[in-house]
Amino acid sequence: MSTVNLDIVTPNGSVYEKDDVELVVFQTTAGEMGVMSGHIPTVAALKTGHVKVNFRNGTEYIAVSGGFVEIRQHKVSVIVQTAETASEIDVERAKLARQRAQSHLDDQDNSDINRAKRALARAENRLRVAELK
Ligand code: ATP
Repeated sequence: MSTVNLDIVTPNGSVYEKDDVELVVFQTTAGEMGVMSGHIPTVAALKTGHVKVNFRNGTEYIAVSGGFVEIRQHKVSVIVQTAETASEIDVERAKLARQRAQSHLDDQDNSDINRAKRALARAENRLRVAELK
């Protein structure tokens, strides 16, 4: 089976690179999108969610937030603010982040509700993806 090269880049540089990916599934703002070798070139915005990577011998999940995917025939580039594989996720840290975000949302004087909502979405996403490993 023909495979694609997947590269995930964050402000910290390339954090994940594999060249034997059979199928990669993205959660885009327009819905789920599966990509295999030979996919039509496209660009899509990603939701805070996971990237599912299928290899011949298994599957890996990566939590991502804030970014885009660029698809070319044999190369898929993901450019996101954050990316962690399910096994890299620090669950205790995500629980603390969730607690902080929830208390910011409960605070009537908080002027930055949207920021707290995004932080909550990142924390809940990490906790969900950590369960997928
Ligand atoms: P926190 O308040 O715990 O920093 P956050 O959602 O504000 O959470 P981000 O700004 O999304 O954090 O990410 C900052 C950096 O920390 C990124 O490099 C991200 O990959 C990493 N990171 C954040 N939370 C976790 C986690 N629970 N486990 C592993 N890495 C994390």
